Amino acid sequence: MIRLSKSFIGEDEKSSVLEVLDKGYLGMGEEVKKFEDELSNFFNRQVVCVANGTAAIQLSLQASNIGMGDEVIVPSLTYLATFQAISATGATPIPAEINKKTLCLDFSKLSEYLSERTKAIIPVHYAGDPSGIDEIYKFSSKNNLQVIEDAAHAFGSIINGRKVGSFGDISCFSFDGIKNITSGEGGCIVSDKSEVINRIKNLRLLGVDGESSLREINRRKWNFDVTEQGWRFHMSNIMAAIGRAQLKKFSNMASVRQRLAKYYDRLLKDFGKVDLFCRNYDEIVPHIYVLKIKSSNRDYVRKEMLERGVETGIHYQPNHQLSLYKNNLISKLNTTEMVSENILTLPLHPDLTEIEIDYIVGELIDILNSEPI
Ligand SMILES: *Cc1c(COP(=O)(O)O)cnc(C)c1O
Repeated sequence: MIRLSKSFIGEDEKSSVLEVLDKGYLGMGEEVKKFEDELSNFFNRQVVCVANGTAAIQLSLQASNIGMGDEVIVPSLTYLATFQAISATGATPIPAEINKKTLCLDFSKLSEYLSERTKAIIPVHYAGDPSGIDEIYKFSSKNNLQVIEDAAHAFGSIINGRKVGSFGDISCFSFDGIKNITSGEGGCIVSDKSEVINRIKNLRLLGVDGESSLREINRRKWNFDVTEQGWRFHMSNIMAAIGRAQLKKFSNMASVRQRLAKYYDRLLKDFGKVDLFCRNYDEIVPHIYVLKIKSSNRDYVRKEMLERGVETGIHYQPNHQLSLYKNNLISKLNTTEMVSENILTLPLHPDLTEIEIDYIVGELIDILNSEPI
């Protein structure tokens, strides 16, 4: 079976975890601090690590004073996590349209969603592509909105010579097992706003003021005060050990992802029954490889692929179609609805080979050419 996605784990991750286990300090301690310092060098900005990417978004919102009664504009075509992170704060996610060429937020439509209550925009760098981010920042500064980038797919991606996370307001990354880089589970917030970073350092440890800086030297606070609702959203030393080993080999893993996505493009560009997104993989580090298929029956195609040993995915089912969020819709999302019917995600991870891609593409072409109408 060729898996859709997969963690890329070697001896380095295993020995790093064993070292932490041997030290007997598994929770949040100096290993997390070291990972944060290394990430801080990577982005040239302040970094705080948390339990997962969803928590990173939720805490970024809370630290930006966004909650009950506020509205946040977010593309409907994203992982449920982006929506849940917003509603967890009490704020209302407002589902927005995507650009059909990039599947990223359609910045030309942003004013349609504005109200008195709008406080923030959460663009999603779909498949690692930060397209449109400069226009989104322009719109947000004109309308006095906060931008929190959902960069869960985009670790390592570059736009106009700048790394995602190294510019802008607040960027949130995920270190989930199948993302561009993993710490098992995990995530981080990157920003140059010290008040946001410092507040999140408290919020991730139940809101205990100053607890984070003691944990960095493997100590904890016994007398404290708490002024706001916090969470158990910190990262553990075990996770940080995996993350640090991954960060060391990141540029390798990134170039494999880029090479494989380019290879898919090359094999499929002249095949009439698919539409490609043609992203610039010299800059984008792709988390997923998505295309549109011209088929009346995607379920059939996916079932056939599976029978031939290839897992496929759908990124994503639009969030405005879910019962919890369907009443949040302000204007109809035609592109999102159309696109979401035809997109298909093919396997992509650093263990995948060109030979396997030859097979995947061969089978996809065969299935689409012989599909019963
Ligand atoms: C993975 C992901 C998240 C959430 O990250 P977790 O670490 O899984 O909580 C958020 N948004 C998008 C687009 C994602 O793919």
